[in-house]
Amino acid sequence: MKCIYCGSEESRVMDSRVSEELNAIKRRRECLGCGRRFNTFETIEVTPIMVIKNNGDRERFSSGKVKSGIVKSCEKRPVSMADIDKLVSEIEKKVYGSLEEEISSQVIGEYVMEGLRELDEVSYIRFASVYKKFKDITTFFDFVNDFETILKEKNVVSKPINMKSKSVPSKKIKN
Ligand SMILES: [Zn+2]
Repeated sequence: MKCIYCGSEESRVMDSRVSEELNAIKRRRECLGCGRRFNTFETIEVTPIMVIKNNGDRERFSSGKVKSGIVKSCEKRPVSMADIDKLVSEIEKKVYGSLEEEISSQVIGEYVMEGLRELDEVSYIRFASVYKKFKDITTFFDFVNDFETILKEKNVVSKPINMKSKSVPSKKIKN
């Protein structure tokens, strides 16, 4: 990486961060020749990471889904979006950092749980209790919109579901 000021090829990485879109890593470098600083963007080879679901199906890893799952778990908790972004970023790094192109959905579930446990115990318990019901993290993320409903069901005395028992008149076949 040549310095844009003096052309020296020696530089020191001061800081790295994964861009939000996750297709680049931004590095702050200091030139060892002239001491000036500049940023570089290193693009990641875009190979989608596939998540292996419990039933063997594959779907593309989505950090957006991971994030919305974590956001839901942390609702009404003293957890900042910055903390959540940091956790998502850590999970992304683990997922994309592996040389494997496929990852088991269970492993992702574990990453999320480990992170949440450190972040906020209540959010962790929420996540874990709901996640258990789904057995598969991808399925859980698909259902994340129903998360609150599920939580309510857990807390509220379970009401019997009012199945409308309309008596369906049997079709009369006219001959
Ligand atoms: Zn330089």
